[in-house]
Order: sequence, then C-alpha cells, then structure tokens
Amino acid sequence: MSVKVRFAPSPTGRIHVGNVRAALANWLFAKRQGGTFVLRIDDTDLERSTKEYEHGIETDLQWLGLAWDERYNQSQRFPVYQEAVERLKAAGRLYPCYETQEELDRRRKVQLSRGQPPIYDRAALKLSHEERAALEAEGRRPHWRFKLNGERVKWNDMVRGDCEVDTASMSDPVLIREDGAFLYTLPSVVDDVDMKITHVIRGEDHVTNTGAQIEIFRALGAPEPAFGHMPLLVGADGGPLSKRLGALSISELRGEGFEPLAVTSHLAKIGTSDALEAGASLQALGESFGFEKMGRAPARYDPADLARLNSGVLHALSYADARTRLADLDCDLGETFWNTVRANLGKFEEVKLWARVVRGPIEPLAEDSDFLEKAAALLPEVVDETAWARWTEAVKAETGAKGKALFMPLRKALTGLDHGPDMAAMTALIGRERIEKRLRGQAA
Ligand code: GLU
Repeated sequence: MSVKVRFAPSPTGRIHVGNVRAALANWLFAKRQGGTFVLRIDDTDLERSTKEYEHGIETDLQWLGLAWDERYNQSQRFPVYQEAVERLKAAGRLYPCYETQEELDRRRKVQLSRGQPPIYDRAALKLSHEERAALEAEGRRPHWRFKLNGERVKWNDMVRGDCEVDTASMSDPVLIREDGAFLYTLPSVVDDVDMKITHVIRGEDHVTNTGAQIEIFRALGAPEPAFGHMPLLVGADGGPLSKRLGALSISELRGEGFEPLAVTSHLAKIGTSDALEAGASLQALGESFGFEKMGRAPARYDPADLARLNSGVLHALSYADARTRLADLDCDLGETFWNTVRANLGKFEEVKLWARVVRGPIEPLAEDSDFLEKAAALLPEVVDETAWARWTEAVKAETGAKGKALFMPLRKALTGLDHGPDMAAMTALIGRERIEKRLRGQAA
C-alpha cells in the first residue's frame, strides 16, 4: 500500500506555524516512504474563502519546500459530495432539521439547567411528512444532520495510541447548511475516500470530529484511513499561540528574514524526543521524523529556539548555496569571506554588515591612539591569515598588553565593533591599507 496524505487548509487567512506543523508532518511522513502529498484547498465556505489566501498558502508552502504532488479545490467537487448526500439520505443517515439557531440555543439552555448534556434531541426525526411540509410552507429551509449510530468509535491513533469517541455523547453533526452549503465534515470524508488517502494527520482539535467522520466513512461503505492527531502548539509559557510570541504566519516569518529550513526544522522537532537542532535538509528531517517520537503534551513554540535554529542553518550553509543570495545583496566577497562570517549571522541579511566591515568605509572605534600607533608600526608587510598571530605577539611584547586588553582595542579599531568573526581571517579580508587607516582612527 503506498502512502497518500493530504493537507487541507481553509483559504480564510494566511497559514501559520500551527497549521504548517500539520502540513510538514504529512509531508515528511509521506516523503520518507515515497508517498504522495496532496494539497486540498478546503474552500467549501464560499463566503469566507478567497483566491488571495489560496495563493498565499501556495506561496508559503513553496517557500518552505513542501511541494505537492496533487492539488484540488473542494469548491469544484460539489457534484461528488452531492452524490454522497444522496447515498446517505437513501440509507436513512441524513435527515432534515428546521430549527433556527435561537430555537437550538433555547433548548440547549433548558437542557443545561436540568443538568443534561446539551446534545441535539433529534426532534426533527419525529416530524411527520405533514409537519415538514407545513414548515417548508412557512418558508423554512432545512439543514441536514448526519444520524450518528451512538457507538463507541475506536481507532489506534498514530500519535495517541488507542482512542475512543462515544458518539452517543455528541449531537448529530450538521453536514449541509440551510443555504445548501456543505460544511467541512462531509467533503473531507468523501475526498479522503475518493482520493484514497491512507493516513489523516492533523491537530488534536479534530479528535471528536474523527469519531463522527469514522461513522461517515462506514456509512459510505468505505474503509477508514489511519489517523494521527498531533498535540497542539502552545507558547513557551504554556499559554495559547498568540501575537505576543511575535510573527506566527509564514509570510511574516519570511518577511523577517528567517530561513525556510529553520522554520521546518523547528516545527519538525518541537514536541518530539529529538534534540531541537537544524536539519541539513527537508530530506534529512524526514529521515529522523516519526510519530512515535511525538509526546502527548502540547508542543512549546519558543521564538528564541527559532532564532537559534536560524543561526544554525546559516552556519551550515555552503558558499555554493549562499552565492546567488550574496550576489543579490552585492555581498559576494568570495568563499573565504562567507566561511568567515556565516557563524556570526542571526539572519542572512546581516552579511551586509560584515561586507561593509571588510570593504569599508566604516568609522573605526579607535580609543587609545598611543596603543594603536604602536600596533600600526608593527603591522606585518603582508597581511594574510597568518599575520594576526605574529602581529598580536609583537604588539604584546612591545606594549605588555595581553588577553582582552590586547585584542579588544584592535578588534574595535579594525571593525568598529566589539564582537564579530575570527580576527585572523578578518584582517586578511580587510587588507593592510584599510587596517593602517583604521588604526589611525580614519574612516576607511
Ligand atoms: N480545513 C481543516 C482545518 O484546517 C482540515 C482539517 C483536516 O485535516 O481534516 O482544520
């Protein structure tokens, strides 16, 4: 059996780290087994879905490297759903209801005040033909509910192990609204059957839904797929994901200069027993990905971890892979330059700072001119990668300065900063002429 999974986002907003984690889990799970990844746009809600959001989802997935093998719009598949509707009606599993929202709310309040669970009482099932006709004559349009069997639906969840949902404790789900619109529940099942989805991997907010959906699979005479429900993402403090954590949508993270591999590494590893480290590639992430490593506790999303992984990705980025991007920023100063500065980058764009330090002009931080004067006099004729060690030895012998007192004034004068890449490599890159000027406190 070859694996086939789907990611089914609703195009009613930009995708964020929460839903992308589900997309990624599906993708990694499928790809490591040579399976198929389906992008299924869940746009049955015609009022709230937009093409702009749909394109946004595609852009975000492409940027992350999560290419899809097949792609569908549910809005173009209404005839397929209609056919399933007819079958469920014929089987007596779909029944028309005429209650208004206010009537349902009122009944729910009464149930709660009597200490009863607020479950739909199936009053509509008892309506006679005449009563229905009378309601329709009043101008009421029915919504349609799926008649649950009221059984204990069981499955072995890929993440949660043995699961059970008692559908007797649930209201019969509405599958079709008064205006004829399909709600998510039915199209999702019909498509999972039609597209031969083997594994449904999604957030644990869908667990109860799964109970009802398994009944629908069975009512349609189709075998149900395997299910995996991942714990939800929460903030580092255990609170819900929210704006206080900074950027959460993929488009914002992209705009802030994060690397796609940092985002995918982060989302693939949080909430698992693996160390939170950047993967070498999506393929490498796939090789170590497994639901058996996923805990039951919510996964904590900490932007500080993402920042750290971003540095890790840049540190490991080869010159060959960085080259075009360096050229785009007019910062391609060669392989040695890249290898020297990459470990100091939080974001790729920061390479501009180091290109500037190398090429100038910068304002040196020349604080002790006597010391720097002496250092300038001792500067080797040829400033290559070996020069720094010899030079600083000589400056130490001449001035008696050592350790930080020796290195920091030189670093500040040469780079204008009190931190940065290895100075032996930097001096060779900066070059003798600029070094001399900077030691004298001149902008260069
Ligand atoms: N559109 C649904 C959601 O985003 C899809 C859920 C599913 O994967 O079945 O929650």
